[in-house]
Amino acid sequence: MTTLGTASAGPGEIDTGRLTVGESRDGSTVGLPCAVVNGASDGPTLYLQAASDGDELNGVGVVSRVVPQLDPETLSGTVLVVGIVNYHGFQVAEHRNPIDDTKMNRAYPGDENGTSSERIAAATFDAATRADLILDLHQGSTSRMIDEVRVRCGRRHRLHDECLQLAKTFGCGYVLDQKGPKGQLARMGPDEGIPTVDPELGGCVGWDEDSIALGVEGVFNVLRGYDFLDGETPAEPQTRAKGFDQYGSPSGGLVQFEADLGDRISRGDLLFEVTDVFGELKARVTAKNDGIFWRARRLPQVATGEYVCSVGTNVDQY
Ligand SMILES: [Zn+2]
Repeated sequence: MTTLGTASAGPGEIDTGRLTVGESRDGSTVGLPCAVVNGASDGPTLYLQAASDGDELNGVGVVSRVVPQLDPETLSGTVLVVGIVNYHGFQVAEHRNPIDDTKMNRAYPGDENGTSSERIAAATFDAATRADLILDLHQGSTSRMIDEVRVRCGRRHRLHDECLQLAKTFGCGYVLDQKGPKGQLARMGPDEGIPTVDPELGGCVGWDEDSIALGVEGVFNVLRGYDFLDGETPAEPQTRAKGFDQYGSPSGGLVQFEADLGDRISRGDLLFEVTDVFGELKARVTAKNDGIFWRARRLPQVATGEYVCSVGTNVDQY
């Protein structure tokens, strides 16, 4: 019998339940929706979680489509799922946990006696570290972003190659291979000896069906690639960026992009212009380095210094 929270499944069974992480302000129990898919045959364990950032809903879309397609009779090994990590943020469609104004993906490995976010991090880290592989589903928040997978352990980490292989197996086409900030699950998981990546499924308000479809395919690629399921995963070459240039606006006004997501950028290429409300040009911003147009703000209006876009740099194929 394999248990996660109140979900409990024997070999060949699936169960859903709740992983308790304290109480809400009205005293009711807070339970993260969780699932255990226990394969009829022995094998490795995959941990999958979504909505660590409460407004990143594509991962929840992936979970809600993947779990009904998993047949424990044909599965070797176990899949543990927490479908909504940032419970409080999800309720109000906010990025951070509003109880303590914390970004969940800076709180790992957490503290079971700590703040609201630390307790949720501790409970989910506990579940995650029972696994052999970890997928932490994210997206570029509500801005516009390409679909990519992040390797966050750093290129000198002993598990770097395994994380990179997991990113390639997931297979979004793009990989960001850059050491992440402390407290990210994709950085802390490898320290426990578990290959961990953070698929970033586009960026949108609500659900983006194309990014969700890529995420579903990615999870099944991993399940096939690591022998949970029969079948081959085509490990296609991935386009990898090892850094980011972020561009802010030199003046206030309206942004007009001259590059589109996924475009190859050469140093000196025009990225965007800023005009005033009457269309008069105020600024032109060009690329500092070669790369790939990676992410862009959604709303056109910007203040001086406000974030506009990112270009993935130091690009290669692997
Ligand atoms: Zn996120």
